[in-house]
Amino acid sequence: MITVHNTLTGQKEPFTPKEPGKVRMYVCGPTVYSYIHIGNARTFTAFDVVARYLRYRGFDLTYVRNFTDVDDKIINAAKETGEEPVQLAQRYIDAFREDAKALHLIEPDVSPKVSDHIPEIVALIQKLVDRGVAYESQGDVYFQVSKYPQYAKLSKRNLDELRAGERVQPGEQKREPLDFALWKAAKPGEPAWDSPWGKGRPGWHIECSAMSAKYLGEDFDLHGGGLDLIFPHHENEIAQSEAATQKPFCRYWMHCGFLDLEGAKMSKSLGNVVRLRDALQRVDPEALRFFFLSTHYRNPLSFSEKSLADAETRMEYFYETLRRVDERAGGKDFGKGPLHGDPEQFVRDFERAMDDDFNVPGAFAALSGLFALMNELLDKPPVKDKAVIGRTLQALREVTRKFATVLGLLEDDPHDWLMRRRERLIAQKGIDRAKVEALIAERAAARAAKNFEEADRVRETLKAMGVEIMDTPAGTTWKVQA
Ligand code: AMP
Ligand code: ZN
Repeated sequence: MITVHNTLTGQKEPFTPKEPGKVRMYVCGPTVYSYIHIGNARTFTAFDVVARYLRYRGFDLTYVRNFTDVDDKIINAAKETGEEPVQLAQRYIDAFREDAKALHLIEPDVSPKVSDHIPEIVALIQKLVDRGVAYESQGDVYFQVSKYPQYAKLSKRNLDELRAGERVQPGEQKREPLDFALWKAAKPGEPAWDSPWGKGRPGWHIECSAMSAKYLGEDFDLHGGGLDLIFPHHENEIAQSEAATQKPFCRYWMHCGFLDLEGAKMSKSLGNVVRLRDALQRVDPEALRFFFLSTHYRNPLSFSEKSLADAETRMEYFYETLRRVDERAGGKDFGKGPLHGDPEQFVRDFERAMDDDFNVPGAFAALSGLFALMNELLDKPPVKDKAVIGRTLQALREVTRKFATVLGLLEDDPHDWLMRRRERLIAQKGIDRAKVEALIAERAAARAAKNFEEADRVRETLKAMGVEIMDTPAGTTWKVQA
Protein backbone atom coordinates (compact mmCIF):
# COMPACT_ATOMS: atom_id res chain seq x y z
CA MET A 1 0.00 0.00 0.00
CA ILE A 2 1.40 3.38 -1.02
CA THR A 3 1.07 6.27 1.40
CA VAL A 4 1.19 9.88 0.25
CA HIS A 5 1.71 13.06 2.21
CA ASN A 6 -1.37 15.01 1.20
CA THR A 7 -0.98 18.80 1.40
CA LEU A 8 -4.77 19.05 1.70
CA THR A 9 -4.87 17.25 5.06
CA GLY A 10 -1.27 17.86 6.08
CA GLN A 11 -0.93 14.12 6.72
CA LYS A 12 0.42 10.95 5.26
CA GLU A 13 -2.51 8.91 4.00
CA PRO A 14 -3.04 5.56 2.30
CA PHE A 15 -3.25 6.22 -1.41
CA THR A 16 -6.53 4.85 -2.74
CA PRO A 17 -7.39 6.12 -6.20
CA LYS A 18 -11.05 6.59 -7.02
CA GLU A 19 -11.10 3.73 -9.48
CA PRO A 20 -9.10 0.74 -8.21
CA GLY A 21 -6.02 0.09 -10.31
CA LYS A 22 -6.22 3.42 -12.15
CA VAL A 23 -4.47 6.68 -11.31
CA ARG A 24 -5.18 10.01 -12.92
CA MET A 25 -2.41 12.51 -12.24
CA TYR A 26 -1.93 16.15 -13.21
CA VAL A 27 1.31 18.08 -12.80
CA CYS A 28 1.52 21.81 -13.47
CA GLY A 29 4.00 22.24 -16.29
CA PRO A 30 6.30 25.07 -17.31
CA THR A 31 5.39 28.60 -18.26
CA VAL A 32 7.24 28.69 -21.56
CA TYR A 33 8.91 32.11 -21.69
CA SER A 34 12.49 30.91 -21.19
CA TYR A 35 14.56 27.76 -20.73
CA ILE A 36 13.76 25.84 -17.58
CA HIS A 37 16.17 26.01 -14.66
CA ILE A 38 17.38 23.23 -12.42
CA GLY A 39 14.76 24.13 -9.78
CA ASN A 40 11.97 23.42 -12.27
CA ALA A 41 13.86 20.30 -13.28
CA ARG A 42 13.94 19.05 -9.70
CA THR A 43 10.16 19.27 -9.42
CA PHE A 44 9.60 17.58 -12.78
CA THR A 45 12.06 14.81 -11.86
CA ALA A 46 10.29 14.22 -8.54
CA PHE A 47 6.97 13.67 -10.33
CA ASP A 48 8.67 11.66 -13.05
CA VAL A 49 9.65 9.13 -10.39
CA VAL A 50 6.16 9.22 -8.87
CA ALA A 51 4.73 8.38 -12.32
CA ARG A 52 7.31 5.65 -12.94
CA TYR A 53 6.70 4.10 -9.53
CA LEU A 54 2.92 4.11 -9.91
CA ARG A 55 3.34 2.19 -13.18
CA TYR A 56 5.87 -0.15 -11.56
CA ARG A 57 3.25 -0.85 -8.87
CA GLY A 58 0.86 -1.89 -11.62
CA PHE A 59 -1.40 1.16 -11.76
CA ASP A 60 -2.86 2.15 -15.09
CA LEU A 61 -1.65 5.76 -14.95
CA THR A 62 -2.85 8.67 -17.03
CA TYR A 63 -0.29 11.43 -16.63
CA VAL A 64 -1.01 14.98 -17.79
CA ARG A 65 1.46 17.87 -17.64
CA ASN A 66 0.48 21.13 -19.27
CA PHE A 67 2.28 23.96 -21.03
CA THR A 68 1.32 27.47 -19.95
CA ASP A 69 1.76 29.21 -23.30
CA VAL A 70 -0.49 32.22 -22.64
CA ASP A 71 0.86 34.44 -19.88
CA ASP A 72 2.07 37.97 -19.06
CA LYS A 73 5.66 36.74 -18.81
CA ILE A 74 5.46 35.34 -22.34
CA ILE A 75 3.96 38.56 -23.70
CA ASN A 76 6.69 40.61 -22.03
CA ALA A 77 9.47 38.33 -23.26
CA ALA A 78 8.06 38.51 -26.80
CA LYS A 79 8.06 42.30 -26.66
CA GLU A 80 11.78 42.14 -25.96
CA THR A 81 12.64 39.75 -28.76
CA GLY A 82 10.17 41.19 -31.25
CA GLU A 83 8.54 37.80 -31.79
CA GLU A 84 4.87 36.91 -31.69
CA PRO A 85 4.09 35.53 -28.21
CA VAL A 86 2.81 32.22 -29.65
CA GLN A 87 5.99 31.86 -31.65
CA LEU A 88 8.20 32.53 -28.64
CA ALA A 89 6.17 30.08 -26.54
CA GLN A 90 6.48 27.39 -29.21
CA ARG A 91 10.24 27.86 -29.30
CA TYR A 92 10.44 27.23 -25.56
CA ILE A 93 8.04 24.30 -25.76
CA ASP A 94 10.42 22.70 -28.24
CA ALA A 95 13.36 23.52 -25.95
CA PHE A 96 11.51 22.04 -22.98
CA ARG A 97 10.87 18.82 -24.86
CA GLU A 98 14.59 18.56 -25.66
CA ASP A 99 15.54 19.28 -22.06
CA ALA A 100 13.00 16.81 -20.69
CA LYS A 101 14.31 14.10 -22.98
CA ALA A 102 17.91 14.88 -22.03
CA LEU A 103 16.98 14.48 -18.36
CA HIS A 104 15.28 11.13 -19.11
CA LEU A 105 11.84 12.38 -18.06
CA ILE A 106 9.12 10.10 -19.35
CA GLU A 107 6.62 11.68 -21.73
CA PRO A 108 3.29 12.44 -20.08
CA ASP A 109 0.29 10.89 -21.83
CA VAL A 110 -1.05 14.34 -22.61
CA SER A 111 0.82 17.68 -22.68
CA PRO A 112 -1.97 20.17 -23.37
CA LYS A 113 -1.34 23.81 -24.26
CA VAL A 114 -3.55 26.65 -23.06
CA SER A 115 -3.81 28.13 -26.55
CA ASP A 116 -5.43 24.89 -27.78
CA HIS A 117 -8.05 24.90 -25.01
CA ILE A 118 -9.65 28.34 -25.10
CA PRO A 119 -13.17 26.93 -25.80
CA GLU A 120 -12.97 24.64 -22.74
CA ILE A 121 -11.68 27.51 -20.61
CA VAL A 122 -14.41 29.88 -21.80
CA ALA A 123 -17.07 27.23 -21.10
CA LEU A 124 -15.79 26.75 -17.56
CA ILE A 125 -15.75 30.49 -16.89
CA GLN A 126 -19.30 30.74 -18.27
CA LYS A 127 -20.38 28.02 -15.87
CA LEU A 128 -18.91 29.96 -12.94
CA VAL A 129 -20.65 33.15 -14.10
CA ASP A 130 -23.95 31.24 -14.45
CA ARG A 131 -23.57 29.85 -10.94
CA GLY A 132 -23.07 33.37 -9.61
CA VAL A 133 -19.55 32.80 -8.26
CA ALA A 134 -17.84 34.82 -10.99
CA TYR A 135 -18.68 38.23 -12.42
CA GLU A 136 -17.80 40.29 -15.45
CA SER A 137 -16.36 43.74 -15.03
CA GLN A 138 -15.37 45.86 -18.05
CA GLY A 139 -14.34 42.90 -20.14
CA ASP A 140 -12.53 41.11 -17.30
CA VAL A 141 -14.09 38.20 -15.43
CA TYR A 142 -13.24 37.58 -11.77
CA PHE A 143 -13.85 34.72 -9.40
CA GLN A 144 -15.56 36.00 -6.26
CA VAL A 145 -13.66 34.33 -3.44
CA SER A 146 -16.25 35.13 -0.78
CA LYS A 147 -18.75 32.92 -2.65
CA TYR A 148 -16.57 29.85 -2.04
CA PRO A 149 -16.54 29.34 1.73
CA GLN A 150 -13.81 26.69 1.74
CA TYR A 151 -11.25 29.04 0.20
CA ALA A 152 -7.71 28.54 1.60
CA LYS A 153 -8.31 24.94 2.70
CA LEU A 154 -5.15 23.83 0.89
CA SER A 155 -2.75 26.56 2.01
CA LYS A 156 -4.51 27.02 5.35
CA ARG A 157 -3.92 30.73 5.12
CA ASN A 158 -5.85 33.15 7.25
CA LEU A 159 -8.39 34.89 5.06
CA ASP A 160 -8.51 38.08 7.13
CA GLU A 161 -4.74 38.41 6.92
CA LEU A 162 -4.85 37.69 3.21
CA ARG A 163 -7.50 40.35 2.68
CA ALA A 164 -5.53 42.88 4.70
CA GLY A 165 -2.42 42.22 2.59
CA GLU A 166 -4.11 42.38 -0.81
CA ARG A 167 -4.48 45.58 -2.80
CA VAL A 168 -6.61 46.04 -5.85
CA GLN A 169 -4.20 47.01 -8.62
CA PRO A 170 -4.90 50.05 -10.78
CA GLY A 171 -7.00 49.00 -13.77
CA GLU A 172 -8.56 46.04 -11.97
CA GLN A 173 -12.28 46.21 -11.40
CA LYS A 174 -12.65 43.69 -8.59
CA ARG A 175 -15.42 43.62 -6.03
CA GLU A 176 -13.11 42.32 -3.32
CA PRO A 177 -9.32 42.33 -3.07
CA LEU A 178 -8.95 38.52 -3.02
CA ASP A 179 -10.99 38.01 -6.19
CA PHE A 180 -8.80 36.74 -9.01
CA ALA A 181 -8.98 37.02 -12.78
CA LEU A 182 -10.45 34.20 -14.84
CA TRP A 183 -10.48 36.23 -18.04
CA LYS A 184 -8.58 39.39 -18.93
CA ALA A 185 -9.86 41.90 -21.47
CA ALA A 186 -7.57 42.26 -24.49
CA LYS A 187 -4.94 44.97 -24.48
CA PRO A 188 -3.62 46.30 -27.78
CA GLY A 189 -0.96 44.08 -29.33
CA GLU A 190 -1.63 41.11 -27.05
CA PRO A 191 -2.90 37.70 -28.14
CA ALA A 192 -6.69 37.61 -27.74
CA TRP A 193 -9.58 35.27 -28.37
CA ASP A 194 -13.34 35.86 -28.70
CA SER A 195 -15.50 35.26 -25.67
CA PRO A 196 -18.96 36.20 -24.35
CA TRP A 197 -17.18 39.08 -22.51
CA GLY A 198 -15.41 40.36 -25.58
CA LYS A 199 -11.90 39.73 -26.83
CA GLY A 200 -9.41 38.66 -24.22
CA ARG A 201 -7.35 35.85 -22.78
CA PRO A 202 -7.57 33.49 -19.82
CA GLY A 203 -6.01 34.21 -16.44
CA TRP A 204 -3.42 31.72 -15.23
CA HIS A 205 -5.28 29.45 -12.80
CA ILE A 206 -8.33 28.59 -14.86
CA GLU A 207 -6.32 26.70 -17.47
CA CYS A 208 -5.39 23.88 -15.10
CA SER A 209 -9.00 23.49 -13.92
CA ALA A 210 -10.22 23.29 -17.51
CA MET A 211 -7.48 21.02 -18.90
CA SER A 212 -7.41 18.60 -15.96
CA ALA A 213 -11.19 18.18 -16.23
CA LYS A 214 -10.95 17.53 -19.94
CA TYR A 215 -8.30 14.81 -19.74
CA LEU A 216 -8.79 13.36 -16.26
CA GLY A 217 -12.38 14.11 -15.32
CA GLU A 218 -13.76 16.56 -12.78
CA ASP A 219 -12.48 14.64 -9.75
CA PHE A 220 -9.15 12.96 -10.21
CA ASP A 221 -6.55 11.38 -7.96
CA LEU A 222 -3.25 13.19 -7.77
CA HIS A 223 -2.12 16.76 -8.40
CA GLY A 224 1.47 17.91 -8.19
CA GLY A 225 3.69 20.95 -8.47
CA GLY A 226 6.36 22.91 -6.64
CA LEU A 227 5.76 24.34 -3.19
CA ASP A 228 5.28 27.87 -4.54
CA LEU A 229 2.15 26.79 -6.38
CA ILE A 230 0.13 25.97 -3.24
CA PHE A 231 -0.92 29.58 -2.98
CA PRO A 232 -2.50 31.09 -4.93
CA HIS A 233 -2.37 28.79 -7.97
CA HIS A 234 -3.61 25.51 -6.53
CA GLU A 235 -5.88 27.21 -4.05
CA ASN A 236 -7.57 28.96 -6.95
CA GLU A 237 -7.75 25.78 -9.03
CA ILE A 238 -9.65 24.12 -6.18
CA ALA A 239 -12.00 27.08 -5.74
CA GLN A 240 -12.86 27.30 -9.44
CA SER A 241 -13.24 23.57 -9.99
CA GLU A 242 -15.28 22.86 -6.88
CA ALA A 243 -17.48 25.92 -7.34
CA ALA A 244 -18.19 24.79 -10.91
CA THR A 245 -18.78 21.08 -10.31
CA GLN A 246 -20.10 21.14 -6.74
CA LYS A 247 -17.94 18.15 -5.92
CA PRO A 248 -14.48 17.63 -4.47
CA PHE A 249 -11.74 18.32 -7.05
CA CYS A 250 -8.47 16.42 -6.70
CA ARG A 251 -8.02 14.08 -3.72
CA TYR A 252 -4.27 14.02 -3.14
CA TRP A 253 -2.03 17.07 -3.48
CA MET A 254 1.72 16.64 -3.53
CA HIS A 255 4.24 19.49 -3.45
CA CYS A 256 7.94 19.36 -4.14
CA GLY A 257 10.37 21.38 -2.00
CA PHE A 258 12.49 24.13 -3.47
CA LEU A 259 15.95 23.90 -4.86
CA ASP A 260 18.21 26.79 -3.94
CA LEU A 261 21.76 27.74 -4.78
CA GLU A 262 23.88 27.17 -1.68
CA GLY A 263 21.28 28.88 0.46
CA ALA A 264 20.32 31.64 -1.97
CA LYS A 265 16.96 31.60 -3.68
CA MET A 266 17.36 31.04 -7.40
CA SER A 267 15.80 33.99 -9.14
CA LYS A 268 16.14 35.78 -12.41
CA SER A 269 16.48 39.16 -10.70
CA LEU A 270 19.47 37.93 -8.65
CA GLY A 271 21.01 36.65 -11.88
CA ASN A 272 21.78 33.27 -10.32
CA VAL A 273 19.61 30.98 -12.36
CA VAL A 274 21.24 27.76 -13.55
CA ARG A 275 19.55 26.55 -16.70
CA LEU A 276 19.02 22.83 -17.00
CA ARG A 277 20.67 22.74 -20.41
CA ASP A 278 23.77 24.48 -19.08
CA ALA A 279 24.02 22.09 -16.16
CA LEU A 280 23.74 19.16 -18.59
CA GLN A 281 26.80 20.45 -20.43
CA ARG A 282 28.83 19.82 -17.29
CA VAL A 283 27.24 16.80 -15.71
CA ASP A 284 25.75 13.50 -16.75
CA PRO A 285 21.92 13.55 -16.79
CA GLU A 286 21.64 10.54 -14.53
CA ALA A 287 24.05 12.15 -12.08
CA LEU A 288 21.84 15.24 -12.04
CA ARG A 289 18.78 13.05 -11.41
CA PHE A 290 20.69 11.25 -8.66
CA PHE A 291 21.44 14.60 -7.06
CA PHE A 292 17.78 15.73 -7.26
CA LEU A 293 16.51 12.44 -5.90
CA SER A 294 19.00 12.05 -3.06
CA THR A 295 16.91 14.38 -0.89
CA HIS A 296 13.27 13.55 -0.14
CA TYR A 297 11.00 15.43 -2.53
CA ARG A 298 9.31 17.38 0.26
CA ASN A 299 12.56 18.77 1.68
CA PRO A 300 14.54 21.73 0.41
CA LEU A 301 17.64 20.92 -1.61
CA SER A 302 20.76 23.02 -1.94
CA PHE A 303 22.69 23.05 -5.21
CA SER A 304 26.45 23.45 -5.55
CA GLU A 305 29.00 22.43 -8.16
CA LYS A 306 30.48 20.06 -5.60
CA SER A 307 27.15 18.31 -5.07
CA LEU A 308 27.03 17.64 -8.82
CA ALA A 309 30.59 16.33 -8.90
CA ASP A 310 29.85 14.06 -5.92
CA ALA A 311 26.71 12.73 -7.61
CA GLU A 312 28.67 11.88 -10.74
CA THR A 313 31.39 10.14 -8.72
CA ARG A 314 28.70 8.03 -7.08
CA MET A 315 27.22 7.14 -10.47
CA GLU A 316 30.69 6.16 -11.63
CA TYR A 317 30.93 3.73 -8.71
CA PHE A 318 27.58 2.22 -9.69
CA TYR A 319 28.49 1.89 -13.37
CA GLU A 320 31.99 0.59 -12.64
CA THR A 321 30.41 -2.10 -10.47
CA LEU A 322 27.90 -2.99 -13.19
CA ARG A 323 30.65 -3.15 -15.77
CA ARG A 324 32.56 -5.64 -13.64
CA VAL A 325 29.43 -7.66 -12.88
CA ASP A 326 28.61 -7.88 -16.60
CA GLU A 327 32.19 -8.85 -17.38
CA ARG A 328 32.11 -11.59 -14.76
CA ALA A 329 28.59 -12.93 -15.10
CA GLY A 330 26.86 -11.33 -18.09
CA GLY A 331 25.35 -13.86 -20.53
CA LYS A 332 26.97 -16.86 -18.81
CA ASP A 333 25.22 -20.04 -17.73
CA PHE A 334 25.96 -21.01 -14.14
CA GLY A 335 23.32 -23.72 -14.07
CA LYS A 336 20.53 -23.96 -11.54
CA GLY A 337 21.15 -23.97 -7.83
CA PRO A 338 21.28 -21.93 -4.66
CA LEU A 339 22.12 -18.25 -4.39
CA HIS A 340 24.09 -16.40 -1.76
CA GLY A 341 21.52 -14.64 0.42
CA ASP A 342 18.18 -13.37 -0.86
CA PRO A 343 18.40 -10.75 -3.66
CA GLU A 344 14.64 -10.18 -3.35
CA GLN A 345 15.28 -8.66 0.07
CA PHE A 346 16.62 -5.57 -1.73
CA VAL A 347 13.43 -5.35 -3.76
CA ARG A 348 11.32 -5.53 -0.62
CA ASP A 349 13.41 -2.81 1.06
CA PHE A 350 13.19 -0.65 -2.05
CA GLU A 351 9.42 -1.03 -2.30
CA ARG A 352 8.91 -0.41 1.41
CA ALA A 353 10.76 2.90 1.07
CA MET A 354 9.00 3.93 -2.14
CA ASP A 355 5.58 3.00 -0.72
CA ASP A 356 6.30 5.38 2.15
CA ASP A 357 5.50 8.67 0.40
CA PHE A 358 7.99 7.99 -2.42
CA ASN A 359 10.98 7.94 -0.09
CA VAL A 360 13.69 7.78 -2.74
CA PRO A 361 16.57 8.36 -0.28
CA GLY A 362 15.33 5.24 1.53
CA ALA A 363 15.25 3.40 -1.80
CA PHE A 364 18.84 4.57 -2.40
CA ALA A 365 19.82 2.86 0.86
CA ALA A 366 18.54 -0.43 -0.61
CA LEU A 367 20.47 0.34 -3.79
CA SER A 368 23.67 0.95 -1.79
CA GLY A 369 23.29 -2.35 0.04
CA LEU A 370 22.84 -4.14 -3.24
CA PHE A 371 25.96 -2.57 -4.76
CA ALA A 372 27.99 -3.29 -1.62
CA LEU A 373 27.04 -6.97 -1.95
CA MET A 374 27.93 -7.06 -5.65
CA ASN A 375 31.37 -5.61 -4.86
CA GLU A 376 31.86 -8.06 -2.04
CA LEU A 377 31.01 -10.96 -4.34
CA LEU A 378 33.46 -9.63 -6.93
CA ASP A 379 36.37 -8.80 -4.64
CA LYS A 380 36.22 -10.89 -1.48
CA PRO A 381 33.44 -13.41 -1.91
CA PRO A 382 32.11 -14.87 1.34
CA VAL A 383 31.41 -18.13 -0.55
CA LYS A 384 33.77 -20.27 -2.60
CA ASP A 385 31.44 -21.80 -5.15
CA LYS A 386 31.92 -19.85 -8.41
CA ALA A 387 28.50 -20.92 -9.70
CA VAL A 388 26.78 -19.55 -6.58
CA ILE A 389 28.66 -16.28 -7.01
CA GLY A 390 27.80 -16.09 -10.72
CA ARG A 391 24.11 -16.83 -10.22
CA THR A 392 23.85 -14.35 -7.37
CA LEU A 393 25.54 -11.62 -9.39
CA GLN A 394 23.10 -12.27 -12.23
CA ALA A 395 20.12 -12.11 -9.87
CA LEU A 396 21.38 -8.87 -8.31
CA ARG A 397 21.97 -7.41 -11.77
CA GLU A 398 18.33 -8.12 -12.61
CA VAL A 399 17.28 -6.26 -9.47
CA THR A 400 19.30 -3.22 -10.59
CA ARG A 401 17.29 -3.24 -13.84
CA LYS A 402 14.03 -3.10 -11.86
CA PHE A 403 15.27 -0.15 -9.84
CA ALA A 404 16.53 1.53 -13.00
CA THR A 405 13.07 1.74 -14.57
CA VAL A 406 11.66 3.42 -11.46
CA LEU A 407 14.49 5.85 -10.80
CA GLY A 408 15.49 6.62 -14.37
CA LEU A 409 19.06 5.79 -13.30
CA LEU A 410 21.53 3.11 -14.44
CA GLU A 411 19.62 2.67 -17.69
CA ASP A 412 22.74 3.07 -19.81
CA ASP A 413 25.27 0.50 -20.99
CA PRO A 414 28.00 0.61 -18.29
CA HIS A 415 30.89 0.71 -20.74
CA ASP A 416 29.31 3.51 -22.79
CA TRP A 417 28.50 5.52 -19.68
CA LEU A 418 32.02 5.17 -18.30
CA MET A 419 33.53 6.18 -21.65
CA ARG A 420 31.36 9.29 -21.80
CA ARG A 421 32.33 10.19 -18.25
CA ARG A 422 35.99 9.78 -19.21
CA GLU A 423 35.55 12.02 -22.25
CA ARG A 424 34.00 14.70 -20.09
CA LEU A 425 36.84 14.56 -17.58
CA ILE A 426 39.48 14.53 -20.35
CA ALA A 427 37.98 17.73 -21.72
CA GLN A 428 37.49 19.36 -18.31
CA LYS A 429 41.01 18.59 -17.11
CA GLY A 430 42.73 19.15 -20.43
CA ILE A 431 44.35 15.70 -20.51
CA ASP A 432 46.52 14.83 -23.52
CA ARG A 433 44.95 11.60 -24.78
CA ALA A 434 47.71 10.74 -27.24
CA LYS A 435 50.29 11.03 -24.50
CA VAL A 436 48.27 8.76 -22.21
CA GLU A 437 47.91 6.12 -24.93
CA ALA A 438 51.64 6.31 -25.70
CA LEU A 439 52.58 5.88 -22.04
CA ILE A 440 50.23 2.90 -21.70
CA ALA A 441 51.91 1.30 -24.73
CA GLU A 442 55.33 2.00 -23.17
CA ARG A 443 54.23 0.33 -19.95
CA ALA A 444 52.90 -2.70 -21.83
CA ALA A 445 56.26 -3.03 -23.63
CA ALA A 446 58.15 -2.75 -20.32
CA ARG A 447 55.96 -5.44 -18.79
CA ALA A 448 56.42 -7.70 -21.79
CA ALA A 449 60.18 -7.28 -21.32
CA LYS A 450 59.72 -8.08 -17.62
CA ASN A 451 61.07 -4.63 -16.76
CA PHE A 452 58.61 -4.08 -13.89
CA GLU A 453 60.52 -1.17 -12.44
CA GLU A 454 60.07 0.76 -15.66
CA ALA A 455 56.39 -0.30 -15.84
CA ASP A 456 55.78 1.08 -12.32
CA ARG A 457 57.57 4.30 -13.19
CA VAL A 458 55.23 4.81 -16.16
CA ARG A 459 52.22 4.10 -13.95
CA GLU A 460 53.42 6.83 -11.55
CA THR A 461 53.87 9.26 -14.44
CA LEU A 462 50.27 8.60 -15.51
CA LYS A 463 49.06 9.01 -11.96
CA ALA A 464 50.72 12.40 -11.77
CA MET A 465 48.74 13.35 -14.90
CA GLY A 466 45.50 12.35 -13.09
CA VAL A 467 45.16 9.06 -14.96
CA GLU A 468 44.58 5.76 -13.24
CA ILE A 469 45.17 2.50 -15.11
CA MET A 470 43.41 -0.77 -14.45
CA ASP A 471 44.54 -4.15 -15.73
CA THR A 472 41.45 -6.24 -16.52
CA PRO A 473 40.98 -9.62 -18.20
CA ALA A 474 40.13 -7.66 -21.36
CA GLY A 475 43.37 -5.66 -21.24
CA THR A 476 44.47 -2.37 -19.71
CA THR A 477 41.91 0.39 -19.39
CA TRP A 478 42.26 3.78 -17.85
CA LYS A 479 40.17 6.40 -16.19
CA VAL A 480 40.58 10.02 -15.21
CA GLN A 481 40.60 10.79 -11.55
CA ALA A 482 37.83 13.24 -10.68
P1 AMP B 1 6.96 27.69 -13.64
O1 AMP B 1 7.40 27.51 -15.06
O2 AMP B 1 7.56 28.85 -12.96
O3 AMP B 1 5.45 27.65 -13.48
O4 AMP B 1 7.52 26.43 -12.82
C1 AMP B 1 7.38 25.10 -13.23
C2 AMP B 1 7.47 24.20 -12.01
O5 AMP B 1 8.73 24.34 -11.34
C3 AMP B 1 6.41 24.50 -10.94
O6 AMP B 1 5.92 23.28 -10.42
C4 AMP B 1 7.19 25.26 -9.89
O7 AMP B 1 6.59 25.12 -8.63
C5 AMP B 1 8.52 24.57 -9.94
N1 AMP B 1 9.65 25.39 -9.44
C6 AMP B 1 9.96 26.68 -9.74
N2 AMP B 1 11.07 27.07 -9.11
C7 AMP B 1 11.52 26.01 -8.39
C8 AMP B 1 12.65 25.76 -7.51
N3 AMP B 1 13.58 26.69 -7.28
N4 AMP B 1 12.75 24.53 -6.94
C9 AMP B 1 11.84 23.57 -7.18
N5 AMP B 1 10.77 23.73 -8.00
C10 AMP B 1 10.60 24.93 -8.59
ZN1 ZN C 1 -1.48 24.48 -12.70
